[in-house]
Amino acid sequence: MAHCILRIALDTPLNAVFDYRWKSGDSGRPHVGQLAMVPFGPREVVGLVVDVLDETDVPEEKLKDALAVRSQLAPLSAQWLALAGFAAEYYQRPLGEVALPGLPKNLRVTSTVALDRAIKKLGKMELPHDPAPAAAPLLNPGQQAAADAIAGAQGFAPFLLYGVTGSGKTEVYLQACAQVLAREPEGQVLVLVPEINLTPQLETNIRARFPGVMLSTLHSRLSEGERMLHWLAAHEGKARIVLGTRLAILASLPHLKLIVIDEEHDPSYKQQEGLRYSARDLAVWRAHQLQLPVVLGSATPSLESWHHALKGRYRKLELRERAVQQAVLPSVKLIDTSRRRGQEGMSEQLVEAIKLRMERGEQSLLFLNRRGYSPVITCESCGWVSECKRCTALMVLHKTDYRLRCHHCSLEMRIPRHCPTCGNIDLQPLGRGTQRIEESLQEMFPQARVLRIDADSTRRKGSAQEAFDSVHRQEVDILVGTQMVAKGHDFKNLTLVGIMNPDSSLFSQDYRASERLFAQLMQVAGRAGRQGGSASEVLVQTSYPEHPLFSALVAHDYDYFANSLLGEREVAGLPPFLYQAILRAEARELEQALEFLRAARGLVAHEGITINDPIPMSMARVHNMERAQLLVESASRPALQAFLKGWMQALREHKTRIKWSLEVDPVDI
Ligand code: ADP
Ligand code: ZN
Ligand code: ZN
Repeated sequence: MAHCILRIALDTPLNAVFDYRWKSGDSGRPHVGQLAMVPFGPREVVGLVVDVLDETDVPEEKLKDALAVRSQLAPLSAQWLALAGFAAEYYQRPLGEVALPGLPKNLRVTSTVALDRAIKKLGKMELPHDPAPAAAPLLNPGQQAAADAIAGAQGFAPFLLYGVTGSGKTEVYLQACAQVLAREPEGQVLVLVPEINLTPQLETNIRARFPGVMLSTLHSRLSEGERMLHWLAAHEGKARIVLGTRLAILASLPHLKLIVIDEEHDPSYKQQEGLRYSARDLAVWRAHQLQLPVVLGSATPSLESWHHALKGRYRKLELRERAVQQAVLPSVKLIDTSRRRGQEGMSEQLVEAIKLRMERGEQSLLFLNRRGYSPVITCESCGWVSECKRCTALMVLHKTDYRLRCHHCSLEMRIPRHCPTCGNIDLQPLGRGTQRIEESLQEMFPQARVLRIDADSTRRKGSAQEAFDSVHRQEVDILVGTQMVAKGHDFKNLTLVGIMNPDSSLFSQDYRASERLFAQLMQVAGRAGRQGGSASEVLVQTSYPEHPLFSALVAHDYDYFANSLLGEREVAGLPPFLYQAILRAEARELEQALEFLRAARGLVAHEGITINDPIPMSMARVHNMERAQLLVESASRPALQAFLKGWMQALREHKTRIKWSLEVDPVDI
């Protein structure tokens, strides 16, 4: 019987692959990219074969036998392994921790029963009933030029599709897809959206436009069974269009020909825990690897992409006007609230504007990026405020269920009947969240149908979709919501957007705050007036109407804003002119975390790399853990990568009980 050695990546924090013996019987020699069941400590686990060798340095007596290989499943391709390998190396994680968690759970359990059943189902997988086929609208010349440029591109071709809100970017994606799929009989297209709630809108559009084409969707709200089916459909090349959120960037797509990243600037493309990857950056890498076009679409591109476009590394395609005839961008007006505070946080102008919309039978949207009733309750006689016991944060009042809730550690308690320090029974909510705005609106406009959409109102599976559907069906007059409603939605009868209180992030320490705020405001403003008809407007309530960010917003001038921010970043030496990584540590005592970071700093030599002083994180305590961070910077990405590699090695060998993690290209500093 011939033997061979399988080198296998396992999902463990150890940065290593493990060798196992394989006795090839009838089944022959396994292939790289197959999944294998192996003993690991007391357990049996599933790992990924990354190499098949004739011999190993592991002594014979230590070598264990691999138990089985999943031959039902076509091996993951060399390209896919290279993608996982790149992500592992770039984000400084073990390969197994990158490659395995992205696979459906049923592939990773040792029992093959579930797998067989799934695989069988796929053979019979039915397409969901397609909606009535829809004809593609005639593209305007800008859209046509963009779609042709994308579909006609040869080799690696990154495009920045820079189009104002409502300019019809979706049509460009769809028609570029149509051209690519028509030309490539087996070809696959990957489309990413930032927000799970945007998948149904796009899914309906795609199904109507591509009847009979198998579409697979990949996002975190699928059941395990569904995820398995959709993943396999992509892996086996049956699904020709794959639509998903950021995690879909790691899908196995053997015939990938085009990648689309919608709203590429959106922070949710960055995974914020575990493997902290940027799906957008991986998309560009993947397109380069496979020599494909990749489209990054946005009305407010990230400064990284904007910078690449200015430097000519990305080709900029512009859509300057809204696609629907007569639809123009809404007029943006600033309402100075520094002197006149208005009623329940709403200025007279805003109330009047809502009234007008009610009379005309049009919809209004009030945007406030703060859920709950009020961000804090306070005692006016002694100054007590509802702080979280476990975090440097305030407990938010949720009036719908009479509870105080910490949004960082999810600690909950009943609203106290009296002040815990002085006994005063008159505790007051301070500030406003979406629940409070909803309540005030309902009082001011008793006849209005008010709907709130935020993370609290949409916990139940399917409830977000129901809520958005009811807005589209015109069953809502006034919509109140957080960033959940700001992105991507094509509301047809909405002509007023009120922005309640954007000021809190104007003077943030985080240098990305103004980029993010501007993008968010432009996006939410972009929900208004998408179908023409009566003039639409955006009212921004601010105490700082002179702030340059607002002047740019009024002028819809992203170019100017982006260029001036980039100028500031260049002078200050900040990304994208500099590359960063952050080492974070947490401990019971702040001093322990800082101490660890000081030690970490001295572990390896760092020429050409700046390591800043360790500092407490801006939110220093979460869930009773004190958190600190160390920012590492370099003007050279390769230099930073080389340093991180050695540093991680040293850190893994450095004995400590402190919990730490590294993030490459951090977005929250
Ligand atoms: P964006 O993603 O750029 O904000 P959408 O793709 O949602 O914009 O398009 C906005 C609206 O314009 C949609 O209602 C869409 O159906 C419509 N639309 C797009 N392209 C055309 C076109 N060529 N002719 C007519 N309507 C169009
Ligand atoms: Zn008190
Ligand atoms: Zn807390």
